[in-house]
Amino acid sequence: MPGPEKTVLFIDFDNTISRGDVLDSVIETFSPTAQWEQWQDDWRENRISTLDCLRLQVGGLEVDQETLLDFVRRVAIDPDFVRVQQWAAATGTELLVVSDNFDVILREIFRHHGIVAPPVFANALQFEDRKVIPSFPYRSPSCARCAHCKAVHFARYSGYHTLYVGDGLSDICPAMRADRVFAKDSLAAHLLAQGKPFTRFGSLGDVVGHLSAGARGRSLAVHS
Ligand SMILES: [Mg+2]
Repeated sequence: MPGPEKTVLFIDFDNTISRGDVLDSVIETFSPTAQWEQWQDDWRENRISTLDCLRLQVGGLEVDQETLLDFVRRVAIDPDFVRVQQWAAATGTELLVVSDNFDVILREIFRHHGIVAPPVFANALQFEDRKVIPSFPYRSPSCARCAHCKAVHFARYSGYHTLYVGDGLSDICPAMRADRVFAKDSLAAHLLAQGKPFTRFGSLGDVVGHLSAGARGRSLAVHS
C-alpha cells in the first residue's frame, strides 16, 4: 500500500522572496557603462537569449566579491518567508529556492537576515579581482527563455504534489507543470492568458494563509 503523497514547494527569489529585483539593481549599479541597457533592449526584443544577455551583463560587471556582497546585504526580504519555511517544516514539505539570480548572492542575503537557507538552485558566479565570471549549470539547450531552466528540477520529484510560487518570465515553464501555483505580476498575466489556474498573491503572507487554510496546499485554485 503506497504511503501518503509527498509535497514539494518550489519558490522563486527575486521579487518573490526579495523586495524588488536584486539582479537588476546589481547590474545597474556595477556596470561600468550604459551598454547593459542596449543588451536589455536586445533581450526584450528577442534579439538575444536570456543566457546571452546575462553572460554579457554579468560578465561585464566591474566589482569585487566583498563590494558586491556588501551591496546585496541591503536587500530587504519578505518577513513572511520564515513562515513559509515553518509551514514547510510542519507539513513535511520539501522547500527549494529556484532562481535565475546567482547562488552566492542569494546565500549572502539569507545569511545576513539570519535565515537558514533552504536548498538553493541558481546560476553560479566566480570572482577574479574586479571581474565577475558567470556560469549556468541549469541552462536548457532547447529553450532560450531562461538562463536557469527551473523546470528541470521537477524531474527529481516525480509522484510529488508540486507547488510553485513566483512572479516572472523564468517562472512560466515550472508553473505550467506545477499542481498548484501562486503567481503575481507577469507570471500571473501569462497564466491567465494560458488558462492555467493559479492563486494570485501580493506577499508571502498571502501564500502562507492559503497554504495553512488548505492543509497541504490543496485548497481550490482560483483565477482572480
Ligand atoms: Mg522573480
